[in-house]
Amino acid sequence: MELGITGKRALVCASSKGLGLGCARALAGEGVHLVMNARGAAALEEAAEAIRAEFGVEVVTVAADITSEEGRADVLAAAGEVDILVTNAGGPPPGLWSDWEREDFIAALDANMLTPIALMKALMPGMIARGWGRVVNITSGSVKAPIALLGLSNAARAGLTGFVAGTSRQVAGKGVIVNNLLPGIHDTDRAAALDGGVARAEGISPEAARSKREATIPAGRYGTAAEFGAACAFLCSQHAGFIVGQNLVLDGGAINATL
Ligand code: NAP
Repeated sequence: MELGITGKRALVCASSKGLGLGCARALAGEGVHLVMNARGAAALEEAAEAIRAEFGVEVVTVAADITSEEGRADVLAAAGEVDILVTNAGGPPPGLWSDWEREDFIAALDANMLTPIALMKALMPGMIARGWGRVVNITSGSVKAPIALLGLSNAARAGLTGFVAGTSRQVAGKGVIVNNLLPGIHDTDRAAALDGGVARAEGISPEAARSKREATIPAGRYGTAAEFGAACAFLCSQHAGFIVGQNLVLDGGAINATL
């Protein structure tokens, strides 16, 4: 299927590895020029160079913490006008509901709710003025089915989801389409870290921890960053113009729900 976005420009945040990289690669595969971001410059440059070589698109890189005001300012200055925005950042740390203080919630809200909102506020006016735009926020399956140890994530991402629900309907008539992608477990560094934690806690190998988790997923495996990126590229395509404010769960069927 021709996605109709060749020659567009996309800002993909937190994209040197994992799901963000999957989205960047899928967009590049459609001929979209990229602005890529991550904190670590070396991995970011490596990922960008591989994309330039493989897909022949322009890639601008900005090594910065997207959750900080200064980092965002650097990224936005380098990005200029973009047609497509993919928001992403690391998730908040796990813990127990009774451990978290106000500062912990503020940090989670800053990273996983207010950062994507600030990016949308900065970039959607240009998209509206040009009559076309796409925004995909990478959130989490925990928005739909809470993960007890990730209470900070459950809370912050639910806040973003509420904002998107209203805002997406305010901008759709101007040609700007905003949706969220909700990953379940995917084969990334974060998944490996989670499996490592389970392995240590249960005294089993990381491979055994992974097999145990895979057995809970109807698809019987972890998702891949490439599959995730393909879904993102579709939501950024010309064909997604009637998909407004939706929350697409990509979890191999792990959340057992009818809707
Ligand atoms: P990952 O493999 O650890 O990759 C994270 C990427 O984001 C890296 O490129 C990292 O580079 C960058 N990054 C992290 N914090 C950043 C920041 N503050 N500013 C700029 N770049 C930043 O993680 P992932 O698995 O792709 O996860 C992406 C998001 O999806 C996270 O919010 C995660 O909680 C969520 N999620 C993932 C899964 C899963 O199974 N993978 C499931 C549910 C939700 P640097 O470290 O160099 O900055």
